[in-house]
Amino acid sequence: MNKCKKASNKCIFCQIVKKQIPALIIAKNNKAIALLDINPVSDGHTIIIPKKHYCDWQNTPPKVLFAIVKLSYKVIKILNKSLPIKPLGYNYVSNQGKIAGQQVFHFHLHIIPKYKENEGFKLDHGKIKVKKIGEIYKYLTI
Ligand code: AMP
Ligand code: ZN
Repeated sequence: MNKCKKASNKCIFCQIVKKQIPALIIAKNNKAIALLDINPVSDGHTIIIPKKHYCDWQNTPPKVLFAIVKLSYKVIKILNKSLPIKPLGYNYVSNQGKIAGQQVFHFHLHIIPKYKENEGFKLDHGKIKVKKIGEIYKYLTI
């Protein structure tokens, strides 16, 4: 796992929070901001970022995660009622670590509207060989 990066002047999402660079903000609350992703996977693709810098999901305090979840309800309401074509579903995604596709190391939740089964975000079930879940379960301690 990558080392957690601290806030820096270079963090693009910290710059958005500080209004140093422009963003298309659609909703906010006291702890988080929702903005349109600059390189959308589907129409209305939104990301929610905390106002404070935390590098990923695992390093974000529960209170802040809760504020992000609360803001997600507001975002969904906006997307449901405002887009020219109403989304038929949503994928909620957060990448943790470079290997998982994380590019910006300031925690964010992707909200990706889904219009067609084969477009937008999809989990790749069955593409690679994996162990039986019973075998994996033996390693996991509660
Ligand atoms: P991830 O790969 O999960 O770290 O996602 C980072 C996301 O941030 C990508 O989907 C980018 O398109 C998006 N992104 C990067 N810079 C900006 C920006 N200035 N404004 C809005 N979205 C951005
Ligand atoms: Zn940041």
